[in-house]
Amino acid sequence: MVSKMGADVVIAGTGIVGCLIAEQMLDAGLSVLMLEAGPRIDRGRIIENYRNMPPAAKAANPDGPFPPKPWALHPMEYTGDPDKDYLITSGPDAKAYQQAYVRYVGGATWHWAGTLWRLTPEDMMLNAKFGVGRDWPFDYSALEPYYTRAEYAIGAAGPSDPALQWPPMRSKPYMMEAFPFGSGQRRCVQAAESIGLQYIPCAQARNNKLAYQGRPPCSGNNNCMPACPIAAKYDAYSALLRIEAKGGVVVPNAVVYRVETDDKNNVQAFHFYDPNKTSTRVTGKTFVLACNGIETPKILLLSKNEKIPKGIANSSDQVGRNMMDTPKFFALAKFKDPIWSGLGPVQTGAIMSTSQGDFRSRYAGGQISLINFSGAGSAGLAALKQKLVGKALDEAIRRETACTGLIAVEHEVLPSAENRLTLSDKKDMLGLNQPAVYYDVGDYVRKGADLHTFPITRKFAEALGAEKVIRIPGFEASQHIMGGTIMGKDAKTSVVDTDCRAHDHPNLFLPGGSAMPSAGSGNSTLTMAALGVKAADAIANQTTRG
Ligand SMILES: Cc1cc2nc3c(=O)[nH]c(=O)nc-3n(C[C@H](O)[C@H](O)[C@H](O)COP(=O)(O)OP(=O)(O)OC[C@H]3O[C@@H](n4cnc5c(N)ncnc54)[C@H](O)[C@@H]3O)c2cc1C
Repeated sequence: MVSKMGADVVIAGTGIVGCLIAEQMLDAGLSVLMLEAGPRIDRGRIIENYRNMPPAAKAANPDGPFPPKPWALHPMEYTGDPDKDYLITSGPDAKAYQQAYVRYVGGATWHWAGTLWRLTPEDMMLNAKFGVGRDWPFDYSALEPYYTRAEYAIGAAGPSDPALQWPPMRSKPYMMEAFPFGSGQRRCVQAAESIGLQYIPCAQARNNKLAYQGRPPCSGNNNCMPACPIAAKYDAYSALLRIEAKGGVVVPNAVVYRVETDDKNNVQAFHFYDPNKTSTRVTGKTFVLACNGIETPKILLLSKNEKIPKGIANSSDQVGRNMMDTPKFFALAKFKDPIWSGLGPVQTGAIMSTSQGDFRSRYAGGQISLINFSGAGSAGLAALKQKLVGKALDEAIRRETACTGLIAVEHEVLPSAENRLTLSDKKDMLGLNQPAVYYDVGDYVRKGADLHTFPITRKFAEALGAEKVIRIPGFEASQHIMGGTIMGKDAKTSVVDTDCRAHDHPNLFLPGGSAMPSAGSGNSTLTMAALGVKAADAIANQTTRG
């Protein structure tokens, strides 16, 4: 029996990782209490918020329809001014760590694109194979069953032809066939082939042709970011409705701020504030922080006390270090003939083979993808700025929308102790320190972009018929938050073990992106989900044993 003050398993965070774990616990017969910092808002309200946003704001920020609550702030538009930004970024590539998660019930999958890549075996063994970065404490074959389980729990559509799978080592086929390419993406296949590369369909967390988990098939709204209006795309909010139907209890507006431990280093309780700053102590057998790669290390650091001065789970001093993402640059291509992006989901394919190779001992690889957003919004804004009206306005919007392409190139970054999350002096309304991140993508990425990925991107764009290709300077965040509670076998140099259990606290689990020892170049949430499923096996075993 679950009460508001305790359960067998207490989970902070209702994003994809927290939800995958919660459902597995309920299926194992354990009681589950989920504490969520943000408010609970239904899909209709979010879509309405989006509709009511001014066009320029729609184009600028996927967080727009999710106004932050003062007790659960999250990043909005970044100003670079520490007094204004929630997440304070600094360092040579501060812009490349301007993350865009939301603290709402359901978390960041509300506005994710739903692209699902796996890591390759080489991505997990960078040090052994290329002498850089860190190795995972297990190999791809050990992670593969969890990838498959995560794909089935989410509902993944991907190619059945192994020649189009990334990577092709799979124990089960995808449950749904890959989405067909629209016209622009079909041109990418031909262009890549003409320069000796392969443009492959990405697996997607959305229903193709079939209904799954009560969610309908995708109808191509091209509105995945900031939210799928019909829930064809997996989001954790849909999963929560199922979790509650199975008996899980979700407490919104519950900001976890302290992890309490006993003399044996077992976790005794989570403490949360409600919006009035009333504190509640929540007890359980096993505790999970699934608050994402920024908020999880933040809570661990906030929980420091006289006996544990460096913070919870931090005897290695690695909490908050090794912050990673997949730093990306954009290349803007102007085509003579229409290419027409925007049919179907926002990302449908990529060149992935450019992320692999022996060059990785010297510089980073990357994935290259023609973004499949409809460009009509930004084309319209640009045409209005020129004060065009009538037929001229219509023609300019059509031409720009059809003949402009944005190519995104995402790179693997190496874990570095200097890329670090700390607690800033700035506090939110509850008196909790806001997070700060120092970030430098490093020469490994800079060289990879200059020597490897941009020259290929230019060739690819030209093969697509581009008359002009402009690399937009600098790197941007790709919204894949990794590294802050890094995994390893050695408790002296890592925070969690192979099941995402804190080395220092046997009943505390820190699953998800923050545990990843390497980033790879592909979107990483599927790996976070697989780690969640793996941790869930361990949590169920240990909690059932008592
Ligand atoms: C615009 C955008 C597009 C993206 N597209 C893709 C993509 O195509 N493919 C891909 O792989 N990834 C993508 N991502 C990344 C993906 O959304 C995240 O990696 C993923 O959602 C992380 O899941 P999570 O459960 O770890 O964290 P979250 O989804 O961030 O969930 C964490 C939860 O914890 C809650 N929380 C935080 N602090 C506290 C606290 N103190 N107390 C209680 N609760 C707390 C939060 O409110 C939140 O609900 C995208 C991200 C963005 C922003």
